[in-house]
Amino acid sequence: MSQPSPPTARTRVVREPDRAVYDREAIYEILDEGFLCHVGFNLDSQPFVIPTSYGRLVDNLYIHGSAASRMLRHLDSGIPVCVTVTLLDGLVLARSIFNHSMNYRSVIILGTATAVQNPVEKLEALRLLSEHILPGRWAESRYPNERELKATSVLRVPITEFSAKVRQGPPIDDEEDYAFQTWAGVIPLETVAREPIADARCVAGIALPAYVSGYTRKKQ
Ligand SMILES: Cc1cc2nc3c(=O)[nH]c(=O)nc-3n(C[C@H](O)[C@H](O)[C@H](O)COP(=O)(O)OP(=O)(O)OC[C@H]3O[C@@H](n4cnc5c(N)ncnc54)[C@H](O)[C@@H]3O)c2cc1C
Repeated sequence: MSQPSPPTARTRVVREPDRAVYDREAIYEILDEGFLCHVGFNLDSQPFVIPTSYGRLVDNLYIHGSAASRMLRHLDSGIPVCVTVTLLDGLVLARSIFNHSMNYRSVIILGTATAVQNPVEKLEALRLLSEHILPGRWAESRYPNERELKATSVLRVPITEFSAKVRQGPPIDDEEDYAFQTWAGVIPLETVAREPIADARCVAGIALPAYVSGYTRKKQ
C-alpha cells in the first residue's frame, strides 16, 4: 500500500468514516477493475450525470466520446466534474430491513476536466482507454483515421482530489435482532463474461482471440 493522500474538506468521508480509503494505490486498484464511470457536472443550474467508459494513465483519468456530445463540448471549457466509479460486490441481507446493505468499493474524484489537444497524447489516451477495457484489442483493430480522430474528443481528469469508500463483510445487525428467525448473509456479485458471440460477418477462419475467451475484470 502507498501512503494515504490526506483527504480535502470535500473528500473526507463523513458518513461511516471507517469505510474511507485514501490510499492512492488502493484507489487505482478499484479504478483498474472498473471501466464504467459516472461523470457529474452542472450546466445552467441543471446537474447531469453521464455514464461513460474511462481509462487511467498514472494519475490521470481519460474519458472519450463524440466531439458533439453535450458532456464533451462543455467539459473541455473546464467546468468542475465529479467522477464516480462503483464496483458492486454483494447484497448484504441483514435480519432487519434497516440494516440491509451492499458490499462495494467506490471511488469519487473531484476535479476539472480539460480537453486533450496534443494528437500524440490523444491517440495514446484512446489506446489506453481501449486497453483498459479490453487488453489486447487495440493491436488487432483498425486504428482511428483522421476523420474519426476529429470526431472524437478526449478529456483528462487529474486524480488529485479523491476518496474511496469500501464496505465488505457480513451484515451488521442490532444485537437483539441476531435471534430473529430469518436467513442472513451475503449474496456475492461480480461482473462475469459469458460465452462470446461471433459476428455473423466475421471473415472465415478468424480464430477467437485468447483475450476474448479469457476475458475477466479481476486483476491478477
Ligand atoms: C453500491 C452502493 C450502495 C449504496 N447504498 C446506499 C444507500 O442505500 N443509502 C445511503 O445512504 N448510502 C448508500 N451508499 C453510500 C453512499 O455512496 C454515500 O457514501 C452515503 O450516502 C453518504 O453520502 P454523503 O454525501 O452524506 O457522504 P459524506 O460522507 O458526507 O461525503 C463526504 C465525502 O466523502 C466521500 N464519499 C462519500 N461517499 C463515498 C463513496 N460512496 N465513495 C467514495 N467516496 C465517498 C466523497 O469525497 C464525499 O465528498 C451506497 C454506496 C454504494 C457504492
